[in-house]
Amino acid sequence: MPEETRRDAKPGGIFSEMHPYREDTPTYTALPKRARDRSEILRELRRIARQEDLRWESGRISGSYYHGGKEHYAFLNEVFGLFSHVNLLQRDMCPSGTKLEAEIVSMVAKMLHGDAVRGRDPQTEVCGAITSGGSESIMLAMLAYREWARREKGIRTPEMVVPETIHPAFSKGAHYFGIALIQVPVGADFRADVDAMRAAVTKNTIALAGSAANYPHGLIDPFERLSNLALEHGIGLHADGCLGGFLLPWIEKLGYEVAPFDFRLPGVTSISCDTHKFGYGLKGASVVLYRNRVLRRDMYFSMTTWPGGLYASPTMAGSRSAGIAASTWAAMLSLGEEGYLDAARRIMRAADMIQAGIGEIPELEIIGRPTFCIAIRSQEPALDIFHVNDFLASRGWRLNGLQRPPGIHICVTLPQTLPGVPEAFVEDLKEGVAYAKAPPQPTARSGALYGGASVPVGAIQQILHAWLDETYEP
Ligand SMILES: *Cc1c(COP(=O)(O)O)cnc(C)c1O
Repeated sequence: MPEETRRDAKPGGIFSEMHPYREDTPTYTALPKRARDRSEILRELRRIARQEDLRWESGRISGSYYHGGKEHYAFLNEVFGLFSHVNLLQRDMCPSGTKLEAEIVSMVAKMLHGDAVRGRDPQTEVCGAITSGGSESIMLAMLAYREWARREKGIRTPEMVVPETIHPAFSKGAHYFGIALIQVPVGADFRADVDAMRAAVTKNTIALAGSAANYPHGLIDPFERLSNLALEHGIGLHADGCLGGFLLPWIEKLGYEVAPFDFRLPGVTSISCDTHKFGYGLKGASVVLYRNRVLRRDMYFSMTTWPGGLYASPTMAGSRSAGIAASTWAAMLSLGEEGYLDAARRIMRAADMIQAGIGEIPELEIIGRPTFCIAIRSQEPALDIFHVNDFLASRGWRLNGLQRPPGIHICVTLPQTLPGVPEAFVEDLKEGVAYAKAPPQPTARSGALYGGASVPVGAIQQILHAWLDETYEP
């Protein structure tokens, strides 16, 4: 360990768990004077990566690791390496970027029934772009609606109407782009309440949005009705398929009932669909699709007066690695329709087993009627679901905590389809309920931040920002 780079581990306070490597690896706060040996660097990072992979390889981590196949990842990394150093911004140097990105957009548009658009109007064609992830796809669609509504309708104080279950990326986009986000409570079935959303539409509304499926409860909003509402008012409708866009089409093909959300509905004007989730690509890519080219133009940025020359970029980033596009493209080709269908079949087999298991536990209830992402809440006021979650955590499970109503969800991905994982989950859930009936401490550890009324919102925000600060502490 080079002495000059060693420093005393700072106590992290309430965030001390964020820095486990301060104990056993050198901490760098400046460049080392002398170059470190590559093999030594690799050895150190291999050890860390191995340790972290062990957690999700158990199949006990909800969401996050969508594929989990070692050979699949090795293949993607090999492809990534071929183009990792190439800048997608410089298309004269890499026309491959045009081939790869255009083909990804086309394949995703086809999967989400983009052809239906041309059937209705031969002049229009679904088009899109590759972004760095779901949040960027969503935010760029919001920007496009803002620009479109300003030009076409003269709207200067834009508003969007969304169900409260919509992803925080919409709040982030509203914050970045000066759009008022009107968040409407969901109905008794936990899906968008279209009548309440209709009542929230004003002359400043630029677009509506819904999720397919939403992150909290894995439910698909009633897009047929949202589509009609959007058409009635001549406004946009974004379908957030970041989570489900790459999985629901295959679940539908398997014969499950999947509420429609894609371009088959005439009012759907944009869709976000993450290749880095159930597209099984590497992190850092998503597709945003538009019903027509006018909207896509409203997302672009260009500048003609810069001393550095003419500049144009389609999305938020400037320089981007072509490796992401190449590995995403390769992931899609290496699976094909067969591969995606087979993955969906395995995911639904596991999800059905989990749903059936929960159905046998009278103290618990599934929220709504989900498919692959299953939210669970307590049926009994005396039973705190976060105590159940504490117990599950002690068994190595990592579920996602929900609030309003308190709950937890498990988003089934391929690691949960390993033999015995769904059965083990149901068994641990049963034991967790028994534990929660007589918990050793009154307040559940995993529910601390979801406590609600007792902690002021400002205080929670301070904690979240302190946590973000801490992520930049060496
Ligand atoms: C993951 C997700 C997003 C945002 O995607 P990122 O890739 O994390 O930016 C948006 N909506 C839903 C429903 C999601 O699950």
